Amino acid sequence: RGETPAPPVGTPRLTVLSGPSGVGKSTVVAHLRKAHPEVWLSVSATTRRPRPGEQHGVQYFFVDDEEFDKLIANGELLEWAQFAGNRYGTPRRAVLEHLERGEPVLLEIDLQGARLVREAMPEARLVFLAPPSWEELVRRLTGRGTEAPDVVERRLEAARTELAAEEEFDTTLVNTSVEEVSAELLALMSID
Ligand code: 5GP
Repeated sequence: RGETPAPPVGTPRLTVLSGPSGVGKSTVVAHLRKAHPEVWLSVSATTRRPRPGEQHGVQYFFVDDEEFDKLIANGELLEWAQFAGNRYGTPRRAVLEHLERGEPVLLEIDLQGARLVREAMPEARLVFLAPPSWEELVRRLTGRGTEAPDVVERRLEAARTELAAEEEFDTTLVNTSVEEVSAELLALMSID
């Protein structure tokens, strides 16, 4: 019926970029998309409020709790996770449509989401974005030192656990420079 043939077994078409919070995933993706607007990035649904400048349907589909419940109940999410008090999920249909057309798909999601994608679609390629060093991640997470010591301590504890997730991933990219790492990511996505 004129359907696009499935890619050969083992061909990664779905690429998941994940990594510890604060490592710079969204900066890398923004850079990649600016240079290569043809790379399709899944737009997630979230219950978090838009930040200034964010638009519905561009950065996220901003929905309320009730709408998010419905997305889950109707099986419309490929994966979803709770992150810092809000829920985030990947709409299933758009991802599958792109994959069926043989087009590469990029997801930028948290570590819990990456694990769920691995279960749902074992052929997905999981890419771990790592900080250049532990010291650098500490610097980014502690920021300007305006937060209470116990809050900083909790964030660092979480980051330690998150860094250990690297071994579950297919590939690690070290975020030394945004230009380099986005070029590496693009190369990974284009390899058949
Ligand atoms: P932010 O609120 O800063 O935009 O995103 C917070 C975290 O949620 C980031 O780590 C981002 O990668 C993650 N995230 C964004 N969309 C999704 C999604 O659809 N699923 C999952 N599991 N995480 C997501």
